[in-house]
Parts: sequence; structure tokens; C-alpha cells
Amino acid sequence: MHIEVEETAAEPVRLFRINTGSCNGCDVELAVTSAVTEFDVEQLGCSYTGSAHEGDILLITGPLTVRAKDEVLRLYAETPQDKVTVAVGVCPVSGGVFRDSYAVDGPLERHLPVDVNVPGCPPRPQALLAGIARALEILRARRGGGERGGEPGDRKCPITDNFPARGG
Ligand code: SF4
Repeated sequence: MHIEVEETAAEPVRLFRINTGSCNGCDVELAVTSAVTEFDVEQLGCSYTGSAHEGDILLITGPLTVRAKDEVLRLYAETPQDKVTVAVGVCPVSGGVFRDSYAVDGPLERHLPVDVNVPGCPPRPQALLAGIARALEILRARRGGGERGGEPGDRKCPITDNFPARGG
């Protein structure tokens, strides 16, 4: 898969992943984007970090469970002010198959600003890569002074195409 991304000499962009109670299906798909050359996030100039302080782009998987919520919000508060937040899979977007559970306190954007939704259960690696590429565009615009952070629910949240053409 080839995704056009503006060439820059900037520092590598760090991806920080937060699992808010997922079934791990989306997390496996994210691992695929790292392990398969065709979907490797390094082609976009990205690498993963285990430190919330370094998280330029947050990849959030799973429905937001009641049990995980405080920890998720704590990690979110530790990340840079101008980060970009990506909801990975339908769970953070709507709760998905867990939406009516007493244990879920979603959707995610009720609690924090979401910049990009990548729906699917789980999303295909192509859609994940497209979502990360979109997040990069937003991050560069934001760091260029074109966009600022916001409050939960006040952003126009683009939704990536989860079903790109075969061979695309
Ligand atoms: S969207 Fe589907 S695969 Fe991803 S965490 Fe939810 S149930 Fe699992």
C-alpha cells in the first residue's frame, strides 16, 4: 500500500497506544502494521513509544470501560498538548459490540477530543495506515499553528475509508 505523505526533515513522530478494554483484535491489527513491511508505520516516519510523554499520536483501542477510564484520562493528560488522537476500531467510536454493557462508559469522545475515527471490527491494516497518515496531516497542521486542541466533542472528526480498493 502506498500512501502519499509530505516529506519533512522533522523528528520521528511517536505513536503511543492505549488499550481502554479492547478484545485485543484491534491491537493485533496494529501489531500487523508494525510487523509487515507493506504496512509498516516507519514508512510514514513513525515509530512506537512506551512513554505517554512522547506520544505525538495516540492510538486508542477498545470500548472505554468504567474500570479503565481514570487511568486512560491520566495517560491522556500526560501526553503533549498538541497530540492527535485516533480512535481505532468501532469500540471507542460507539462501544461496538460492548455498547450496552454496564461496564462501558463510552463513547470515547464524550470524555476526550478525538481527531480521527478508524472504524472496523477490527479495521484492516490499510485503514489503520490511512488513519495514521491522516493523523500526521493534522499533527503537522497543528504544529504549524493551523489548528489547536479542543474540548471533548467539539472537533470535526474525519472518518477514514475502512474499505479501500483492493490493491490500493
Ligand atoms: S473494534 Fe472489534 S476487534 Fe476492535 S476491540 Fe472492539 S470488538 Fe475487538
